[in-house]
Parts: sequence; structure tokens; C-alpha cells
Amino acid sequence: MIKIEASPEEIYDIELEHSLLEANAKLAEKNRAVLDRNGITAIDFMGAIGSGKTTLITRLVEKLKDRVGVAVFNGDATTSSDADPIAAYGVPVVQIATINGCHLDANVVAKACARIDLGKLRLIFIENIGNLICPAEFPLGSKARVVVVSVTEGPYMVRKHPHMFLGAQLVVINKIELAETMDVSVEALTGDVHKLKPDLRVIPTSCKTGAGIDDVARAILAV
Ligand code: MG
Ligand code: ZN
Repeated sequence: MIKIEASPEEIYDIELEHSLLEANAKLAEKNRAVLDRNGITAIDFMGAIGSGKTTLITRLVEKLKDRVGVAVFNGDATTSSDADPIAAYGVPVVQIATINGCHLDANVVAKACARIDLGKLRLIFIENIGNLICPAEFPLGSKARVVVVSVTEGPYMVRKHPHMFLGAQLVVINKIELAETMDVSVEALTGDVHKLKPDLRVIPTSCKTGAGIDDVARAILAV
């Protein structure tokens, strides 16, 4: 087998990339300061397309909206199909259309923060674009990053995207009701996560049956 590896210089100008990430990191710190000042914890949900980020956020909004002030920033390349059903719960929702951009950055999150009344909030859920690569490089100012994986993504998802998991504070393994059908082991996926980061918390969930959702809500309230 022949294997070739892309070097960063081949993909983009490394200097440009470096200053871009640096600028983003500074903006993320600013966002964090604004959120802290308002007593708000932002949680960033990352994961592949179809892992169930939107549905998980919807379940969490259902559970938490009457107890604490919750808002949702919904990153979506083009549509509001994820933002609309969440807005139906009566919580503030900002749809962030990235126009084919493949990740959210701290700048768009700052803009979203400026559009809502921060005074009433305790939590902001930020749904990143469905992508397991570059969102990891762009902190947004959130206090915790959650990676949502689904058993429908096959058995190698975690191993193939170590970077994503190394930067996370919580991993949700979703759609566990389909594990047997998909012939994917939740225990093996959990083991892969712990090989990367032994103390990273993993919560198996089913947004369909409701399994694990209370645990995720508790973990988020404890951040
Ligand atoms: Mg979504
Ligand atoms: Zn990207």
C-alpha cells in the first residue's frame, strides 16, 4: 500500500493559518469574558452530519427551559431546518448561516451574542456545523465542548478523529437504540475515547427513548 501525507504548507500558507487561528482564539477569549460577566455557560456541540446534535439540543431544551434561561445558536450552512423546531419551544434561537462555511468561529458567535438579551440567560447551546475536522481548531468561547457521535457512523469514528475528542469535555454516544442493528459496540467506542483521553466522560444516549438525556442535562448544569 502506498501512503502519502499532506503537509500543512501544501494546503495553505502556514503563516496565514497561524494568524487566523490566533485571531480566533483571542476573540473566543473575549466571548468567554462577556459570557462570564453575564453568568452564562456556553456549551458547544460538535459532531458529524446526522449524529443527532440538533435532536440532542432539542431534548435538552425541553428538559431545561423551564428551570433556567436557555438560548440556542444554530450553525447551519444554508437552511433554518434545525433552528425552526427549536424556536418553536419559545427559547431565543439565532440561526448562523455560514453559507457553505464548514465551521463556526468566535466572530460569528460574538455577532450572535449581540443579537439576544444575555441578561436572562444561564445557558447557551451552540450547534456547530456537521464536521469532525476543523471545528476542533476554532474555540468559540464556550466553557465545554461536547462531541456527539452516533453508532450509525460505524466503529471507527472515534479513532479517525482524535483531535476532536482531545479538545472535548464530554462525549455523547447517540442513537444507542440502533447499536445492535448497526453491529456497533457502544463499549468499544467508549474504550476508543478513553484510549485517547482516559478521564473524558462518555454518556450513551438515545434521543428516541430518552436514555441518558437526564445524565447529559445534569453534566451540563454542573459545568
Ligand atoms: Mg443539526
Ligand atoms: Zn471548517
